[in-house]
Amino acid sequence: MTATLMAGGPLAERIRAQVAEDVQELGGIGLATVQVGEDPSSTVYIRRKHEAAGEAVIGSTDLKLPADISQEALVAAVEELNADDEIDGILVQLPLPGQLDEAQAVLAIDPVKDVDGVHPFNAGQLYLGRPTLVPATPLGIMALLEDYRIGLDGARAVVIGRSDIVGKPVAIMLMQRGYDATVTVCHSRTANLPEIARQADILIVAIGRPKFVTADMVKPGAAVIDVGINRTETGLVGDVDFAAVKEIAGHITPVPGGVGPMTRTMLLYNTLLAAREQQE
Ligand code: NAD
Repeated sequence: MTATLMAGGPLAERIRAQVAEDVQELGGIGLATVQVGEDPSSTVYIRRKHEAAGEAVIGSTDLKLPADISQEALVAAVEELNADDEIDGILVQLPLPGQLDEAQAVLAIDPVKDVDGVHPFNAGQLYLGRPTLVPATPLGIMALLEDYRIGLDGARAVVIGRSDIVGKPVAIMLMQRGYDATVTVCHSRTANLPEIARQADILIVAIGRPKFVTADMVKPGAAVIDVGINRTETGLVGDVDFAAVKEIAGHITPVPGGVGPMTRTMLLYNTLLAAREQQE
């Protein structure tokens, strides 16, 4: 069997078009990104976010700060964006250089402008099942699952990876009332991981290990969501051995072109939600 390809591009484009329409109705909104230092991967991610913002007619500010900036200066820069009426959403690109305290930097973001859903207030709201700004990648994954009509109610979902930005929030969303999956989270210390993965109707992989998930770790017919982005000598690859797993899975996301476009788009969607909230 060859799996159905879950491309993120077409859905992302539809959502962006809707966001663009709503943004025009609101009379324009603004997103600011904050990059500290010049990490090449971060630079690419940020550039793509601004390109996507342009397509959704969202005004965007690309604040670049020196790698050796002090904690106080970084917090002051974020606070300036908090106070700026033209800015509805703020994203501080992580990771930050070693001398900076990420938790403190994130705390400085006004929760109503926290379009990456990383502030403890928003993370807490998600944990409690209340509507709030949530991280863009899990939001994009949920939208993809819905668009491809992957049934979650009563299904067994396995998430590999426990990061604050993907693994944990997607696990919480999957188990929430209304989605109702039964969720297991695996990580680098999990025993018998292949055996657990094989039980998944929905397998979500976010670890940053090229081709980690092999065909023998996948239940026939499962939906496999590959979040990983790994730069290798042969180009960009995911955390899933795509060529082998697509022969056994029911659905599979490609890398690139699966979760990535959804992440960029859901950041814009969050910026729209944040702008509405602030206008009210
Ligand atoms: P991370 O890098 O912060 O953490 C990795 C996680 O993987 C940890 O929880 C760790 O326990 C787990 N892990 C590592 N090795 C493992 C192993 N051998 N077996 C089981 N678990 C293991 O995670 P992240 O920030 O969620 O990023 C994960 C991957 O997803 C990276 O490749 C990143 O580039 C990618 N990513 C992609 C998008 C997108 O939009 N497509 C968004 C965010 C992250």
